[in-house]
Amino acid sequence: YDKESNKIQYTTFAKFPPVRLLPNAERKRILVTGGAGFVGSHLVDRLMLLGHEVTVLDNFFTGSRTTVSHWVGHPNFEMARHDVVEPFMIEVDQIYHLACPASPPHYQYNAVKTIKTSFMGTLNMLGLAKRTKARFLITSTSEVYGDPEEHPQREDYWGHVNCIGPRACYDEGKRVAETLTYGYMRQDGVDVRVARIFNTFGPRMNPYDGRVVSNFIIQALKGEDMTVYGDGQQTRSFQYVHDLIDGLILLMNGEETRPVNIGSSHEFTIMEFAEAVRDVVEEVQKEYGLPVKRVGIVHKDMPTDDPQRRRADTTRAKEQLEWQPRWAVRQGVKEMVLYYKQAMDLGKI
Ligand code: NAD
Ligand code: UDP
Ligand code: UDP
Repeated sequence: YDKESNKIQYTTFAKFPPVRLLPNAERKRILVTGGAGFVGSHLVDRLMLLGHEVTVLDNFFTGSRTTVSHWVGHPNFEMARHDVVEPFMIEVDQIYHLACPASPPHYQYNAVKTIKTSFMGTLNMLGLAKRTKARFLITSTSEVYGDPEEHPQREDYWGHVNCIGPRACYDEGKRVAETLTYGYMRQDGVDVRVARIFNTFGPRMNPYDGRVVSNFIIQALKGEDMTVYGDGQQTRSFQYVHDLIDGLILLMNGEETRPVNIGSSHEFTIMEFAEAVRDVVEEVQKEYGLPVKRVGIVHKDMPTDDPQRRRADTTRAKEQLEWQPRWAVRQGVKEMVLYYKQAMDLGKI
């Protein structure tokens, strides 16, 4: 209270990026499970900017409040700390169901919990979709193809998965989640979408979650040897997170109800990828006048059941969603290097 002007003073607590003002008919109430994770937080950003009402449901197992904290207090945003294995009641128009740890060390940390999250969590979110008549999208994975015998992987390939190996909690969890999804579609008429996501990277990926892109960048930035598992001849195709978000939103709002691969079709051996990351890190160090140290590459044991080849066949996404990746891998890696470098300089990692 300011005595002189006789007025109450107000403080602006937070500034938000301007969000689109949508007419009521277009503004959707959207639930994002796993919305505090790497992919989820980018999806939340995009949905908020588009002008929707977004609720994040997350138990913060691998995600963090800080990934979406910039929206806290915004009238279109809400966050619920909740575990998807427990029932959840809310009225929504669309559900993006992402909640599930995604990196091998994280999902193997408590394998039974991972299966429960995939099965019971997906069951609950489908039950919610059935009751509210919301459209339901699940983020499945290229891991449903296992260690594939067909290459590249098309959506009609049934996969080659070891149902009792260390990765099974995730692979089989996602396979049964897909089965449940189509069960609810056939039995109860739930409107479903299934994205099979291939390896994705970008800023906000947990730097210590053990996945290859974050491992390599952090190692190179710290001047440590990069750890290639096995001989490094196994392959992956990597997409930048913004391309994935485009794909997820197009899929949710399109008509395709069959599974759709969303990923890059540019295949690297892990050895080639290590060299590419090392080059980008050196390029950034030179550009910013930082000391450049050429790091080495060391080999470690190959994890059990590590898929030997993986490349997305994205014909269906191109034809049905008019989607294709727009970010070059090197361009994306550079963004991520800058993000981690800044976080390291700020003492955050
Ligand atoms: P992430 O680990 O960063 O995010 C997962 C989020 O889910 C986290 O915020 C975590 O706290 C939350 N979560 C986990 N278990 C939960 C539970 N029981 N209840 C509530 N919340 C829970 O992983 P990500 O890379 O962002 O992956 C998101 C989704 O995309 C996952 O479903 C994953 O399987 C899928 N996917 C990701 C990739 C990739 O390369 N990033 C590839 C294929 C599929
Ligand atoms: N469910 C939920 N939120 C809802 C509706 C259902 O979490 O708004 C859960 C419900 O508790 C159940 C699951 O979703 O465990 C499946 O619901 P469904 O109605 O299909 O099955 P039922 O309740 O008949 O077993
Ligand atoms: N990998 C590696 N070094 C690392 C981390 C992973 O060589 O420090 C390899 C891993 O064995 C796999 C590939 O990189 O062949 C991708 O691993 P990631 O865990 O990122 O994803 P996924 O195996 O689930 O595709």
